[in-house]
Amino acid sequence: MPRSAYERSKGVETVTWREFPLGKGIALAILDEASATGRQQKGQALLDVLDEAAGLPPCKLTVADRPQRHRTREGRLELKTYGYYRIAWESTPRRGSIRIYNLTAIRQQVLAPKVFLETLLHEWVHHYDFTGLELDRSPHTSGFFNRIRDLAETLGVGYVAPPKREVSSAAPPEDVMVAKDHLRPGGVPPPKWIRDQVLALFGHPRT
Ligand SMILES: [Zn+2]
Repeated sequence: MPRSAYERSKGVETVTWREFPLGKGIALAILDEASATGRQQKGQALLDVLDEAAGLPPCKLTVADRPQRHRTREGRLELKTYGYYRIAWESTPRRGSIRIYNLTAIRQQVLAPKVFLETLLHEWVHHYDFTGLELDRSPHTSGFFNRIRDLAETLGVGYVAPPKREVSSAAPPEDVMVAKDHLRPGGVPPPKWIRDQVLALFGHPRT
């Protein structure tokens, strides 16, 4: 990863707004929803408020009423995030989409309200990183987690965000997919497992 993207991600601790996001009521209403449909509707309303207030292109939310497809390696649960962020990097404007599974992977229980909301805010901060900060990666740095916390506090729901984390990683996050028109720079096709994963998560593109 280019050092600049990582350092920039680490150095920015807050979300910058064009206008104050009036999303507190919607955020609180999301905590009262348990169904995938209700969470998708209210969640989309919140994303629209955030995108408008931050001056970002829209981000589409899908809440799937099924457990997260998970993968284990050597008996260990390898994927443990509840949602994914995907950006079509080469389209104009850059379109983002968020997908959240409403049920937990193993026990297939409905995600707790706070976990759902935190996941939504987490994935939106990836959208902010790409389209607001214009980073070409969105690593899970300490700054990234501080931006989630700042966002949650701005919305009056600071208690859904985890306390400041010391861990920061330069490794590419597992919940972010950058669609670059099937080819990486240099014309090398992505590895098959990445294509398989994108297909499994987002399905076949409609033609
Ligand atoms: Zn993430």
